[in-house]
Amino acid sequence: MTSLRFKAIEKLNKPTSESNGSDFRITKIFNENVFTLQTARSYLSEEAYKSLVASVKSGKRIDRGMGNSIAQGLRLWAEEKGVTHFTHWFQPLNGLSAEKHDSFFTILSDGTPLEDFDGGALIQQEPDASSFPSGGLRATFEARGYTAWDPSSPAFIMEIGNGKTLCVPTIFVSYTGESLDAKTPLLKALAFLDKAAVDVCQYFDKNISKVNATLGWEQEYFVVDAGLASARPDLLLTGRTLVGHSPAKGQQLEDHYFGAIPERVYAYMRDFEKEAYKLGIPLRTRHNEVAPAQFECAPIYEETNLAVDHNTLLMDIMTRVAKRHGLIVLLHEKPFAGINGSGKHNNWSMSTDTGVNLLAPGKTPKTNLMFLTFFVNTIKAVHDYAEILRASIASAGNDHRLGANEAPPAIISIFIGKFLTDVLKQIETRVGDKFDEQDEAMLKLDIHRSIPELMLDNTDRNRTSPFAFTGNKFEFRAVGSSANCANAMTTLNTVMADTLRKFKIEVDALIEKGEKKEVAIMQTIQHYIVQSKSVLFEGDGYSDDWEKEAKKRGLPNVKTTPQALDAYHSEKTKKLFVDNGIFLLPEIEARHEIMLEEYIKKIQIEARVLGDLASTFVIPSALKYQNLISDNIRGLKESGISEKLYANQIQILNKIGEHIQIISDNVEQMIEERKKANNVSNTRERALLYCEKIKDKYFGTIRYHIDKLELMVDDSFWSLPKYRELLFLR
Ligand code: ADP
Ligand code: MG
Repeated sequence: MTSLRFKAIEKLNKPTSESNGSDFRITKIFNENVFTLQTARSYLSEEAYKSLVASVKSGKRIDRGMGNSIAQGLRLWAEEKGVTHFTHWFQPLNGLSAEKHDSFFTILSDGTPLEDFDGGALIQQEPDASSFPSGGLRATFEARGYTAWDPSSPAFIMEIGNGKTLCVPTIFVSYTGESLDAKTPLLKALAFLDKAAVDVCQYFDKNISKVNATLGWEQEYFVVDAGLASARPDLLLTGRTLVGHSPAKGQQLEDHYFGAIPERVYAYMRDFEKEAYKLGIPLRTRHNEVAPAQFECAPIYEETNLAVDHNTLLMDIMTRVAKRHGLIVLLHEKPFAGINGSGKHNNWSMSTDTGVNLLAPGKTPKTNLMFLTFFVNTIKAVHDYAEILRASIASAGNDHRLGANEAPPAIISIFIGKFLTDVLKQIETRVGDKFDEQDEAMLKLDIHRSIPELMLDNTDRNRTSPFAFTGNKFEFRAVGSSANCANAMTTLNTVMADTLRKFKIEVDALIEKGEKKEVAIMQTIQHYIVQSKSVLFEGDGYSDDWEKEAKKRGLPNVKTTPQALDAYHSEKTKKLFVDNGIFLLPEIEARHEIMLEEYIKKIQIEARVLGDLASTFVIPSALKYQNLISDNIRGLKESGISEKLYANQIQILNKIGEHIQIISDNVEQMIEERKKANNVSNTRERALLYCEKIKDKYFGTIRYHIDKLELMVDDSFWSLPKYRELLFLR
């Protein structure tokens, strides 16, 4: 019987799918399936429209009466586009998006069938929450949960095949109000940042009344042939390869980066981009990444809540559309050993309702001071809250990137470039000096003109930084490619807001004492630089020297998820989130529990799959080859030729036997360790066991010997598609 591997290879050269990506003009289809405010205007009464706008702009609640009018308008619009069903669309804590479809169809009490969508159904629903993770919140309360409309993210129509569903973005909370999703705390954090940033902006410009955090994510991903992937249980079940020897050619030539995009992938990209544009996802760039079969796309940045929804939607679309093209998209952080992993750089800044980017250097002393204020507050926030930021990006998949020597390290540090380093140094060394009115030299610095050049100079080096300033925004690079950005964004915006809040208290106190405003601000900035400069690092983040240096500086370097998540336990974290109204204490505990559970499940599944691969794929292939060789030896022996002439075969036979033995022994022991770990009831301890006693102890050893066998066994006996087949798409 031919193995799946060879069947898939045979099919490879036949086109698997026609591209339907005939060229189109983006503006023609952009937002086609979104109920934008512009669309709303023609489907809603004046009053309903105004109420919707107010709610979008200020988060004002919409009452049920108005909800009815909006719902009717929404249904009208959706029905004209052939929609029959609607769903509340939300992001539970399993990292995916969730939907439960209901039809508009209903039957009145007199038996009349009717299409209807009322305000109640738009504003709130009650899906069964019991199958979503709740970290114990449900056990203590109720199984029910509520989804509630989030008007700040517009409703959209999801097309799947010929089916069309109206999706209403919602938050998801338990019966007693605890958040069970990614969006609820994000909205709270964004409101907190808005308030804290506006308060600080008032020092500089009284006209500023709203600050939005902005996010532009860069999504990296791998694409592999679906037929080949279906012959790899590890790819299908864990999203990454657990075994596989590096191919003779990897990424050493760096010929994939910015090279021509393979035609099949190009057709796939255009297809998912088209779906994305219809949903208002403003994709802007697409290109190859460094590793073979690795690619990236990025949108134009947006307000953070919308950007997060769009990224979640896009990951879903990319996964679905890939199947049409006979491809599988891998969003995992480390699908292949020995070549680059994937991240999701979160480009982040803040913008005011007066149109100012608060992280863009100004052109006048006053705007320069505003820039410096937000710039230095960011540095202080990242310095003070490095542990919780590290925890916000922790996952089993991302552990392969952080700390491995080809990705931003697990040490949270900030790159700002030479020019700004000098600026901060100048401010810092004025310790003891009083800033006075005349002394504005610092602020007259031509920062805005010097920065672009400087950033160009440093692009290569800053790639190794987990948090880099790139001219007019910070780039949080340590976020994993499969993550929902909400967690990283909730944390980053909360720590920033908390820092700004404290900054204002300090500055106000100095002003109270009679200090001039600008002087008070400069002095506080100076203190902040002194307190947080240890987080600044301009060198090579991948180097061993940096690990040593960071240790000397006292910066945390937490390499594994279970340990990183301990940050959720600290008093500092609890104070940060609870005092600022982002989480209740039980919500933090629940999230900690959920993340640990997820970690355990992921490693558990990987361990099982690795055991299966070893026992049912690798060892049988090796045994077949062993038989072939032993037959060969027997034949040669019978023919009476000198033993010297088949010594090589004997050696191979021994080697194969040794590898098989080591693999089976380790798989056995790993199963025993799993049994032991499963009996431990404390989740944190169990996660640590899975990390240290199962993954760290066995995965590498088992893989090493399997990969050795891959190099020895006759290629035609090997049933798992090899790296060279998976990685070099044609
Ligand atoms: P690169 O990082 O590759 O040089 P860009 O700087 O053009 O590319 O942008 C990367 C991402 O950063 C894009 O998604 C872009 O929209 C986003 N971005 C640019 N400015 C901002 C900003 N002020 N706030 C948030 N994201 C931004
Ligand atoms: Mg970038």
